Amino acid sequence: MKQRLLFLGPPGAGKGTQAQRLAASHGLLHLSTGDLLRAEVQAGSDLGHQVEAVMASGELVSDDLVLAIVRSRLEHHNQGWLLDGFPRNLAQAEALDRLLAELDQRIERVVLLELDDGLLIQRLLSRGRSDDNEQVIRHRLEVYRQQTAPLIAHYRDLALLVSVDAAGSVEEIGERIKAVLLD
Ligand code: ADP
Repeated sequence: MKQRLLFLGPPGAGKGTQAQRLAASHGLLHLSTGDLLRAEVQAGSDLGHQVEAVMASGELVSDDLVLAIVRSRLEHHNQGWLLDGFPRNLAQAEALDRLLAELDQRIERVVLLELDDGLLIQRLLSRGRSDDNEQVIRHRLEVYRQQTAPLIAHYRDLALLVSVDAAGSVEEIGERIKAVLLD
């Protein structure tokens, strides 16, 4: 199975859930920038204070900051990994390409989880995280469309992209993902 992976897709598509399952079953390092940032907020660190309001609004935190977080985790990790929630715009994708070249590593596959807006909003509203109220959700979807969705073409051009239908049960989607990582 491919060992160096990106999960891409709108908020609510189930990236976190699927990434966690796959990483656990295949011994990959799961790097979720959202989880790492939330942990900083919870811990009340300086960084947490810096990002709290930005996250609550649904905007993206600064590229330099998330890149520093990713760098510190990948630098000393030579085995498989799964990035979830990063990169989120073209500048981050280009910074990641440079970082990986420096570390002599490369992305092996990008999994795009696809789901329509109605289902996304429904899932996010039922999750009830503090940034999951309807107004912020709509804004996060807008940020996704404007800033993150261009990465789909970027990774398609690099022949790394595979799409997976993200409607269905957690198990079903998990099986679809495993199937596209095999060859
Ligand atoms: P979701 O997939 O539901 O949008 P995440 O946990 O991935 O949730 O992200 C939650 C919030 O954390 C984002 O709205 C954003 O403010 C911040 N964030 C996470 N990853 C990044 C990133 N790579 N760049 C900038 N901001 C990020």
